[in-house]
Amino acid sequence: MIILLKKNADESQVESLKMLLRAQNIEPHVSKGSMQTLIGCVGDVAHIDPSLIEAIDVVESVQRIQEPYKAANRKFHPEDTCVDCGGVEIGAGQFGVIAGPCSVESEEQIIGVARAVKEAGAKMLRGGAFKPRTSPYAFQGLGKEGLRMLSQAKKETGLPIVTELMDFADIELFNDVDVIQIGARNMQNFNLLKEVGSYTKKPILLKRGMSATIQEFLMSAEYIMASGNANVILCERGIRTFETQLRNSLDLGVVPLLRRLSHLPIVIDPSHATGYASMVEPVSVAATAIGADALIVEVHNNPQKALCDGIQSLTPEAFASMMPKVFAIRDLVESWTKK
Ligand code: PEP
Ligand code: MN
Repeated sequence: MIILLKKNADESQVESLKMLLRAQNIEPHVSKGSMQTLIGCVGDVAHIDPSLIEAIDVVESVQRIQEPYKAANRKFHPEDTCVDCGGVEIGAGQFGVIAGPCSVESEEQIIGVARAVKEAGAKMLRGGAFKPRTSPYAFQGLGKEGLRMLSQAKKETGLPIVTELMDFADIELFNDVDVIQIGARNMQNFNLLKEVGSYTKKPILLKRGMSATIQEFLMSAEYIMASGNANVILCERGIRTFETQLRNSLDLGVVPLLRRLSHLPIVIDPSHATGYASMVEPVSVAATAIGADALIVEVHNNPQKALCDGIQSLTPEAFASMMPKVFAIRDLVESWTKK
């Protein structure tokens, strides 16, 4: 349910309305737009009679939101959301590239890659410490030690860090992490979503599950938001279809679709979407052209020797050669939207 307020609504009356909603176990979220202020209601609104709310002085009208996702819904928050990722803003016109290896492998490796991607224009560093691997015999990540190395790379370069949390039991190790990634395999780990959403207001980069519909994806964002953390970034990394020639199937149509349905920032992961380094540049350029708010790209100092996802990893040189093309397209996109 959303409550549209009258223009110039009296602040104290708005406060009383919020108190009244809280007394009904509804959490009010005020969204002040350039045209109108509205209150989005999170909670079980089924028992609320809209005509009683409409009778309140400051209320212009009341609308029910049909979709099951409320806080993530654009109707709830008409303006684009900008998420502050350790000083780097993503969304609402702010664009950035996140880059780094699939996994942190050594201090030398992560600091070297961090320096190289920063030099090429990346705004954040990615690197897995806890890895969700299909095989229990494959490299599982350096864990706590990997997080320490990421922190060291952050200290050396100033780049905020993005890394995956698989188990809530590890959350206290993530104090220095700027953006917590919830991977595709955990997109519907509802307990993890609730735990992380209630524990921290740090940005959460939520990756689309490999067989998740867009509605399920948005419902997972809703879990985090309903638990108290509105700083969610949606990451499309392709889904599994009947096609096997690419690692996943990426429908870039999700960018304008998610833009219409939600106010949250949208990130495209061209590395996991395609599975091949040679396809990362064209997909990155296309994702930028269609209006993604950010890209997350795997870059490895020596892809042939990578312990994880080497085939899809760019060398620092290939990344540096791709970035001017991405920025050129981004400039064009910005010039269209400014008109
Ligand atoms: C990753 O980012 O390295 C990763 C495992 O991604 P996904 O969860 O999208 O497969
Ligand atoms: Mn990977």
